[in-house]
Amino acid sequence: MKKPKPYGFVPFNDRVEREQIVGREELRADRCHGKLSIVITALTPLLVATGRLERVGDKLVKGLTMRNGVPVIAGSTLKGMSRAHAEAMSYSCNLYGRVNYGKLAEVNKYPCNDQVKIPSNVRACVACRVYGYTMKQKQNVAKGLVDFTDFALEGEVGQFVTVSKIPSLYAPLRDAKALHYYQNDEDYLQKKMYRHGKPQTHTGAEYQVVEAGAVFSGDLTFQNLTRDELALLVLSLGAAQGERKFQCKLGYAKPAFFGSVQIEVKEVVPYARPFLSNVRSFSKEDLFSWAESYGQDEFLREQIRRVVDHYQYDRDKHNEWNRDRTGMKSY
Ligand SMILES: [Zn+2]
Repeated sequence: MKKPKPYGFVPFNDRVEREQIVGREELRADRCHGKLSIVITALTPLLVATGRLERVGDKLVKGLTMRNGVPVIAGSTLKGMSRAHAEAMSYSCNLYGRVNYGKLAEVNKYPCNDQVKIPSNVRACVACRVYGYTMKQKQNVAKGLVDFTDFALEGEVGQFVTVSKIPSLYAPLRDAKALHYYQNDEDYLQKKMYRHGKPQTHTGAEYQVVEAGAVFSGDLTFQNLTRDELALLVLSLGAAQGERKFQCKLGYAKPAFFGSVQIEVKEVVPYARPFLSNVRSFSKEDLFSWAESYGQDEFLREQIRRVVDHYQYDRDKHNEWNRDRTGMKSY
């Protein structure tokens, strides 16, 4: 029987909702400010590689991204993934879609900051407000309202680092774009997202990988987020509880079924009373309940169902590539 492909598609929204941006200058009393402590658990081996050669025993293999001798998932990697998921779950402009395709709805053809000379007058979509965007006139970048630290491997490094073959077509650099954009037969833009499965390690060059079971930890700090924006952030990581929980894909070789992870919110630290007067506090339970009720209309709730359904690791973890007539595995 033909096995399913290691990717699926989620359609784009074709409308953008924009609001006045709120900067970082002052902490507003009606917004949320604080820190999320996040843990990332590898469900399959994870490949976050630099391409630099490392000596392992008597051979040279392609090494992992390290900081001070500890493997890390770069904050920018997690941020990019989070943004792509958040775009699918909101009425946001689509950075990559806009660059590559001309058939987006009229409203989605322009970046949020286009044609505005005074930055404080910018009206931006939720993805641009939360994650930031490039300012055309000033050639610099508006930072957004969330910062991602790097995520460092916890525990004994040697215990979780090993060497694995990676099918060469899906090695780093050739696989740099995790999420691709396609138009279907009706010219609707869709996002290509990789599915979970069983890592294909039968062929290819050797890389250092972090083994399944490894745990990475780091923080997200944020200011001036609305409840909905904070809910979207939690949802975009697959870190909601209950029916909206899912497992993400991170790092390289995703089509070869590497990089399945569960992201969880370990702790919520609101920056509120007693540190800041007049600012409302909130708990982890508040956050999960906002994530549960997020979605102003049926279209957004359906988009969330599609993303959640796409990323169910337990259902798909035995997926493998097909073998062709000559016995070669491919998809
Ligand atoms: Zn935007």
